[in-house]
Amino acid sequence: MANSWRRERWDSLRLLTPNFQSRLPGYRYEGADPDGFMTMTEVVEFIAGFAVIAGAPVRTQTTVTSVTPADGGYHVSTDQGELRCRTLVLASGACNLPSVPALRSAVPAHIACVSALDYRNPAQLPDGGVLVVGASATGVQLADEIHRSGRPVTLSVGEHVRMPRTYRGKDILWWMDNSGIWNQRYDEIDDLARARKLPSPQLVGTPHRATLDLNTLTSAGVAIVGRLAAIRDGRALFSGGLRNQFALADLKMDRLLDTFDEWARTAAREAEVAPPERFEPTRTPASSRLDLDLRHGEIRSIVWATGFRPDYSWLDVPVVDAKGYLRHDGGVVDAPGLYAIGLPVLRRRKSTFIHGAEDDARDLVDHLARYLG
Ligand SMILES: Cc1cc2nc3c(=O)[nH]c(=O)nc-3n(C[C@H](O)[C@H](O)[C@H](O)COP(=O)(O)OP(=O)(O)OC[C@H]3O[C@@H](n4cnc5c(N)ncnc54)[C@H](O)[C@@H]3O)c2cc1C
Repeated sequence: MANSWRRERWDSLRLLTPNFQSRLPGYRYEGADPDGFMTMTEVVEFIAGFAVIAGAPVRTQTTVTSVTPADGGYHVSTDQGELRCRTLVLASGACNLPSVPALRSAVPAHIACVSALDYRNPAQLPDGGVLVVGASATGVQLADEIHRSGRPVTLSVGEHVRMPRTYRGKDILWWMDNSGIWNQRYDEIDDLARARKLPSPQLVGTPHRATLDLNTLTSAGVAIVGRLAAIRDGRALFSGGLRNQFALADLKMDRLLDTFDEWARTAAREAEVAPPERFEPTRTPASSRLDLDLRHGEIRSIVWATGFRPDYSWLDVPVVDAKGYLRHDGGVVDAPGLYAIGLPVLRRRKSTFIHGAEDDARDLVDHLARYLG
């Protein structure tokens, strides 16, 4: 139970969604700190509490080894025996494997490579310089933590989503929820494929509700470089488009804040929030390096914070595309009686978050019940 939160997260991680957003069907955070962020131990306790009230017949310590179509339903093989069912809901998660670019194979052998699924804390890394590749939620958090451990950190930044932790006195995710952005349905989104691939926002959950953006990291002494484009003859080569990347992320953040301001005005919520604010544009480093020699000891380890992907290697149903992603329409998978939940923008922008499951589950259960009927 709560397997991914127990076994696949780094030690210092806290949810980036505030406690008031920790809710599951008929169950929510009831503690004294609604604006705080749960540690992994607290998340596991939270989910264990839900398991008690839900009382669902969960088989723990059971791995599904294959699913095959059979007699108008599915045959499920597990390491604890065989099962038959007419309908099946895939809730196996979106983040089972690290998504590491192929250029990883060109990294010189003496450099330690760690993915975000393997990373636990800085002590796991050798002393010396660390290259963190990827600057979404995971990358900025790990760059900050590793830098604080005394190791010089270089952070490679590609496309990213910048967000302040708080805006007009409220958590930024309070705005996402209340303004309706997170409730936007998948069939109302213009470029759904792109929305499903959007990187996670640069956010961290800390007791001080601190913003962790590239300006914070630059001020702390983290060296920012562009997107890792190639590794050739032992040299890491970075794209030179930092200024454009920053301008784009700043522009999108400002547009989002404009949307929030507009909502606060039209929904007559101005009295609840502080006046509008705008943030310093992302500072472009005076000189950012375009390459880094990986052969001579400046960099001793690389942390790949380049995202996650699902693992359907056990699913023997032809519903997975060439890139390993499930073919589905709002969680209704391209095979009779097969459903999925918990994937990015499955039915709503909030689908991939803990509190996003409830509305999606209700819609899918309606569909599933009609199918069985
Ligand atoms: C680093 C990180 C930080 C995150 N932070 C937040 C956050 O702050 N707030 C938030 O709301 N969301 C956060 N998320 C997203 C979070 O993963 C989801 O909100 C939530 O965990 C989704 O729950 P789930 O049950 O759908 O998937 P998961 O938690 O991934 O659970 C899927 C389960 O299925 C199991 N499984 C997979 N394959 C098989 C198989 N073949 N047989 C048996 N079991 C199998 C897995 O082991 C896992 O236990 C974060 C995700 C990551 C990776």
